[in-house]
Amino acid sequence: MSQIEIKKIIKAINASDGAGVKLKRSIGTPEADYIDPFLMLDEFGSENKDDYIAGFPPHPHRGIETVTYMLNGEFEHQDSTGAKGIMAPGDVQWMKTGRGIIHSEMPAMSGGKLLGFQLWINMPAKLKKNKPEYIYIKSKELGVHSDKEKTVKVIAGSYADVEGPEKKHNVEPIYFHVILKEKKEFKYEVPSGHNSFIYILKGDLKIGNKNHEKASDSNLILLERGSKLQIKANKKTEFLFIAGKPIGEPIARGGPFVMNTKAEILEAIQDYNNGTFAKY
Ligand code: MN
Repeated sequence: MSQIEIKKIIKAINASDGAGVKLKRSIGTPEADYIDPFLMLDEFGSENKDDYIAGFPPHPHRGIETVTYMLNGEFEHQDSTGAKGIMAPGDVQWMKTGRGIIHSEMPAMSGGKLLGFQLWINMPAKLKKNKPEYIYIKSKELGVHSDKEKTVKVIAGSYADVEGPEKKHNVEPIYFHVILKEKKEFKYEVPSGHNSFIYILKGDLKIGNKNHEKASDSNLILLERGSKLQIKANKKTEFLFIAGKPIGEPIARGGPFVMNTKAEILEAIQDYNNGTFAKY
């Protein structure tokens, strides 16, 4: 079993998307353009409602999956498959856009704190033209492992005695939200072909055996491939651990569309302009 060490620590950069929502982006940036199969990771969070209240009015997607995990506040969503609802803290929305979806994501509260994450997972060519699929996961449906040292909320993959609600997925994703007490350890066996990373919400960690620089809040810690992950909390620490099997296909990006070639991006734009985009 090979010990997993840190490959690179990346500080999330300030960005703005939708109708001017301020966010911190860590994947989908010059430093971490694509961590196959992960295309983007955004943290949207603020105590100032002007930073997010304009939300993400209707916009299209094709060729990707978006996984939204809310920790604070509420988000109202609506899409062209007819799915509609309000996300509450702890809830997850797993959307497989396939050939096309048009949706809106709007903060449903008038004030207060908002904190959430959106991860984009690439889809392989053979699934990019599928009919869209929308999965809503309530917080109580997550797998939760709790012991004296830690709490692990499982959105995908399995940890100890619990399993996440998202199963039988082509990239075999692992998505944990871990809360680790001071001086305690989190150990996990990662499939050796997976790419993986940690995103720090708050705290201070030691990963693997080698010394490394201190990673702080909103840092993405890209991990080497390997199987033995060992994390120690220098103080109480909260983080996301995310891993997936690489797809290994060329990608072409065009904003909300991610396909394999530039021609397919142009096709997506044409379908959207022609009004045939979200016809299934
Ligand atoms: Mn969207």
